Amino acid sequence: MGHMGVPGEGLAKGLAVTLKTMTRRSHTQQYPDVAPELPPRSRGVIALLEENCTVCMLCARECPDWCIYIDSHKEEVVVPGATRPRQRNVLDRFDIDFSLCMYCGICIEACPFDALYWSPEFEYAEYDIRDLLHDKDHLGEWMATVPPPPAHDPNGEPAKEETAAARKAATPARPVDRPATPPVRPEPGGGDA
Ligand code: SF4
Ligand code: SF4
Repeated sequence: MGHMGVPGEGLAKGLAVTLKTMTRRSHTQQYPDVAPELPPRSRGVIALLEENCTVCMLCARECPDWCIYIDSHKEEVVVPGATRPRQRNVLDRFDIDFSLCMYCGICIEACPFDALYWSPEFEYAEYDIRDLLHDKDHLGEWMATVPPPPAHDPNGEPAKEETAAARKAATPARPVDRPATPPVRPEPGGGDA
């Protein structure tokens, strides 16, 4: 059952809001003469930190608009002492087509390697729609405009790593039948250490 009030109460409340809004001074944003003060986590453009990208393809697969284009090749890295050479993915192409992007941020969420970031920069309109395809160099340049991460919320939950570390530190030592450190075997010939 709804709240039974004085007849016309809702109308009066509504009109009061209208009156308040009508008498409030309006603020016109003076853009482009005055740059807007955007929240630091505004979704302007996506920046790529190329050295963090492992070419795992998760971002491209998760993008609902299919507007991330990635090409790569494998390179052999010979590690001294290793039995076999290692394989490494080398990024040849990483493009985002901002004419298709809907700024959902799924690619940034999906990246397990912190290679993608939001930048609040939004002034990259083009006369030719094809120029909205930003290649990896262009995406890399946006990194300079990525704001530092916000400070931790003092009332927030501690990070999982922190709680795990605290729990580990609080747990009693290993079972008694296993020595904490392996027994030190004396060096043949003896040492003076
Ligand atoms: S923000 Fe969304 S639409 Fe844009 S590239 Fe990322 S996943 Fe695709
Ligand atoms: S999800 Fe991250 S690491 Fe994987 S391809 Fe995309 S940007 Fe690179």
